[in-house]
Amino acid sequence: MIIKTAEFKKSSADLDQCPKDRIPEFAFIGRSNVGKSSLINLLTGNKKLARTSVSPGKTRLINHFLIDNSWYLVDLPGYGYAKTSKRSKEIFLRLINDYLLKREQLLCVFVLLDIRINPQHKDKSFINWLGINKIPFVLVFTKTDKLNQREINKSRKRYFDELMETWETLPRCFYTSTVHRSGRESILEFIGTLIDPEKQ
Ligand code: GDP
Repeated sequence: MIIKTAEFKKSSADLDQCPKDRIPEFAFIGRSNVGKSSLINLLTGNKKLARTSVSPGKTRLINHFLIDNSWYLVDLPGYGYAKTSKRSKEIFLRLINDYLLKREQLLCVFVLLDIRINPQHKDKSFINWLGINKIPFVLVFTKTDKLNQREINKSRKRYFDELMETWETLPRCFYTSTVHRSGRESILEFIGTLIDPEKQ
C-alpha cells in the first residue's frame, strides 16, 4: 500500500468525541517508550506526524490520523505509566476499554512490544484481555535492529511459550525497526487486505 496523505484529525478524551465518520480504523497501543510514535511516523512516511501533532499533554488522549482519506490510524495512549495516580489510571482504563469494546469500525489493534524486553505482566494481561473480549489484534515487535537474529528468535520464543500457556493459536506477528525502516510494507499490506478483502 502506498500512502499518499496522512493528516492529524483530532484528539479525543472519550469515545463520544472520536470522529463520527465510519471508515475503518486500526489502533496502535503499547507501553510508553515502546517506539509507537516512531512506528506511526515510519508507516505514514511522515517523520513528525505522531510527535508534532501530539504534545505531551495529549498522550492520554486518543489521536486519530486520517490516511489517504480512507482509513484512520489511531494512536492510543501508552499503558504502564508507573507514576500516575489511581484516579488517572482509572480514567485512562475507562477510555481505552470504552474505545476498544465499543468502537465498531475498529478492525484491528496493533499491540507493540519491545523485542528486547521479556514478556511483562501488563502486556500479557492486556493481550489476554483482548483475546477474552474477542477484539482482533496482532503483535508488533519493535526495535529489532537492537538484537541479532538468534536473540530475536529467542525473544520471540519466550513470548510464544508464554502465550501458548493460555491460547491455542498465536496471533499474527510483525517485526519492525525504524532504524532499518523494516516491517512497514508487511503492516501496510495487512491493513490493505483488511480494508479490502478482495485484494487478498
Ligand atoms: P513511544 O513512547 O512508544 O511513542 O516511543 P518513541 O517512538 O518515542 O520511541 C522511544 C525511543 O525508542 C526513542 O528514543 C526512539 O528513537 C527509540 N526507537 C523507536 N523505535 C526504534 C527502533 O526501531 N530502533 C531503535 N534502535 N530505536 C527505536
